[in-house]
Amino acid sequence: MKILICGGAGYIGSHMVRYLAAQGHQSVVLDNLSTGHRQAVSPDILEVADLLEPSSLTGVFARHRFDGVIHFCARSLVGESVSQPYAYYENNVAGTLNLLRAMHEAKVDRIVFSSTAAVFGNPQAPLIDEDHPTQPINPYGASKLMVERILADAAGAYGLRSTALRYFNAAGADPAGGIGESHQPETHLIPNVLRAALGQGNGLRVFGNDYSTRDGTCVRDYVHVNDLASAHLLALEYMQANEGAHRFNLGNGQGFTVLEVIEAARRVTGRSIDFAQDARRQGDPAVLVASSDKARRVLGWRPRFVDIGEIIETAWRWHQSPAY
Ligand code: UDP
Repeated sequence: MKILICGGAGYIGSHMVRYLAAQGHQSVVLDNLSTGHRQAVSPDILEVADLLEPSSLTGVFARHRFDGVIHFCARSLVGESVSQPYAYYENNVAGTLNLLRAMHEAKVDRIVFSSTAAVFGNPQAPLIDEDHPTQPINPYGASKLMVERILADAAGAYGLRSTALRYFNAAGADPAGGIGESHQPETHLIPNVLRAALGQGNGLRVFGNDYSTRDGTCVRDYVHVNDLASAHLLALEYMQANEGAHRFNLGNGQGFTVLEVIEAARRVTGRSIDFAQDARRQGDPAVLVASSDKARRVLGWRPRFVDIGEIIETAWRWHQSPAY
C-alpha cells in the first residue's frame, strides 16, 4: 500500500512510517514541521504542507495515488487547549475537514484518525471501553470527538471508511534507535522523569498526591508507540473488508501511578530521581485505563510491550542520546 502519513514527522507518526516500511508498505509524509522534526523523516518522502492551507494539499494528492491516509496532525496539549480553544478547534477540526475534502476530491476513501482517551472526560468505570460515555472536559478532547462525529457522518454521506483510535498514554521509542519522543516544551511524564534521571530539565514535579488512588497520584495506561503503529496498519487492513466508521481504545489495560512510573524508571536507569511534590494539574482525571478487548478481538491487535520497565527502557535509550 501507499499511505499518506499526515504528521509523520512527529513522535507517533515517525514510528508509523518506520513500521510501515518494515511491513513492506510505502509512506509519504505530510507535515508543516511546526512541532514535527525534519530529521525524523527521510527527505525523499517529505511533503511540507499545511492542513490549514488547502491549496498546499492539492499538489500532494495530485503527485501521489494513495490507498489510505493516517492522520496524526494535531495540537495535543490539554492545558494549552483550555487557554487557546480557537487554535485547537481550528487546527484539529477545520484542518481535518480540509484533509477530508482533499481526500474526497482525490477519491481516497480510507483514513485512520488519531483520537484520544480525552474524548471520555472523567471516567465513570475503572476500565474504559468503547461504550463508555464521551464527555470531554477540555477543548482538546472535544475537538477530537467532533472529528469522530464528522467521520461518522462522512461514512453515511460519502462512503468514507474510517477508524478512530483512542490512544491512552503513548510512550517509549523504537528499540532500533534514531527516533523518539521530543516535545518543546515537554509536558509528558516519562520524558520528564528520564530528563530528571539525566540531571536535565527544570526539576521533576509530581502533580497532585491527593487523588483517590493507591498512592494518591494519577493512574495512567502507558502503551508503546510501536504497538500503536501496529494497530494503525491492522485498522487499514480491516477497512479493506469493512465499511463505515469504527472506533477502538488502545492501551495496555494496566494502570500505573506517577510514583510507580518514577520507581520503575529508577530501576531501569539505576539513577536516583528526585522530584518535588506540586499541586494537581488542571484537567487531569484521577484514573485513565483502557479496555482494549475490542481491538484485540476485532483487529487481532496484540501489544508486544506489556511491561512498564520495558517501555521505559526503550525511552531511556533514546533520551540518553536523542537525535533531535
Ligand atoms: N505528570 C507529572 N509530572 C510531569 C508530567 C506529568 O506528575 O512532569 C503527571 C500528570 O499529572 C498525569 C500523568 O503524569 O497524572 C501523565 O501525564 P502526561 O502529561 O504524561 O499524560 P496525559 O495523561 O496528560 O495525557
